[in-house]
Amino acid sequence: MDFFSLTKQELEEYLLMRGLPKYRALQLLHWVYKKGITDTEEMTNLPKSMKGEALGLSILPLKEELIQRSVDGTEKALLQLEDGEYIETVYIPDGLRATVCFSTQVGCAMGCSFCATGKSGFSRNLSSGEIVGQLYYWKYVRKLPVTNAVAMGQGEPLANWENFKKAIAIINDPDAFSLGARMITVSTCGIAPRIRELGRLPWQINLSVSLHAPTDELRSQLMPINNKYPLKELIEAVKEYIEATNRRVTFEYTVVPGLNDGPENARLLVGLLRGLLCHVNVIPVNPLEGKGEDPSAAEEFVRLIKSQLNVTLRRSRGSDIDAACGQLKRKVFE
Ligand code: SF4
Repeated sequence: MDFFSLTKQELEEYLLMRGLPKYRALQLLHWVYKKGITDTEEMTNLPKSMKGEALGLSILPLKEELIQRSVDGTEKALLQLEDGEYIETVYIPDGLRATVCFSTQVGCAMGCSFCATGKSGFSRNLSSGEIVGQLYYWKYVRKLPVTNAVAMGQGEPLANWENFKKAIAIINDPDAFSLGARMITVSTCGIAPRIRELGRLPWQINLSVSLHAPTDELRSQLMPINNKYPLKELIEAVKEYIEATNRRVTFEYTVVPGLNDGPENARLLVGLLRGLLCHVNVIPVNPLEGKGEDPSAAEEFVRLIKSQLNVTLRRSRGSDIDAACGQLKRKVFE
């Protein structure tokens, strides 16, 4: 059984089933998540029945296959899973902040037209342990500080709902990975029913919605999920989320010059989001398959909407190593 997939309660139940007292769960969790030790032989206060194979748990960090470093300090790691599949995770240092972007699926079935992950197709969902394992990798294998985490790697987190929820419980648990809920963000392409459910979860994690277009016609071209959950339904779900949590939602809007920018799109976007407790991140399109970044179009789009919406012009990090949003694609296969 995979240790990293177990919540504290599940670990306690597992140990009780093996005739071990409940408090041993806390000891084990502290060795792994507080001291970064995964070899039970080194866990000095554990009895023989909890050492090595006798415990029956696999406490293996994810295997690093390749690391790429960007000129801006961003790093991308290709990690191998037990069944031989690969995922990518990105580390973004920024002053006192250090954010891990983690994957939730091997590939993705959502098929967004601008996304390299979408183009490589869907293989499978990640287990909660494989999700937690990415954060663990940066903090304890690479020994780097982790202050924030964003479900924004490969895959659609809300399409792997059960495993995603459990992973968040483990990441947030003060006795496990111990990252505050407000430091965790989920980025979604817009699965409306799950956004509603997200608002009902006990954790105050942040919501970021990839919007990228102000009309159904254009958004459906870019993001097929819009055919299933069109803008009206998406915005309704976001409103419900805000009512339930009173938290500000972020909308990501990648500007593709000539496609979704200009005064008319700006006007429509303002009309769509006016009155919502939200912030818009405008991002210049990343270089992908020969398309160059054009910050001037994004700057102009910000100028058009900034008097009516809270907006920030973002620069993607790590685009020279294909680590920016929409660029991850399990590069080992190329
Ligand atoms: S942008 Fe996100 S949801 Fe869309 S295909 Fe890429 S990984 Fe999937």
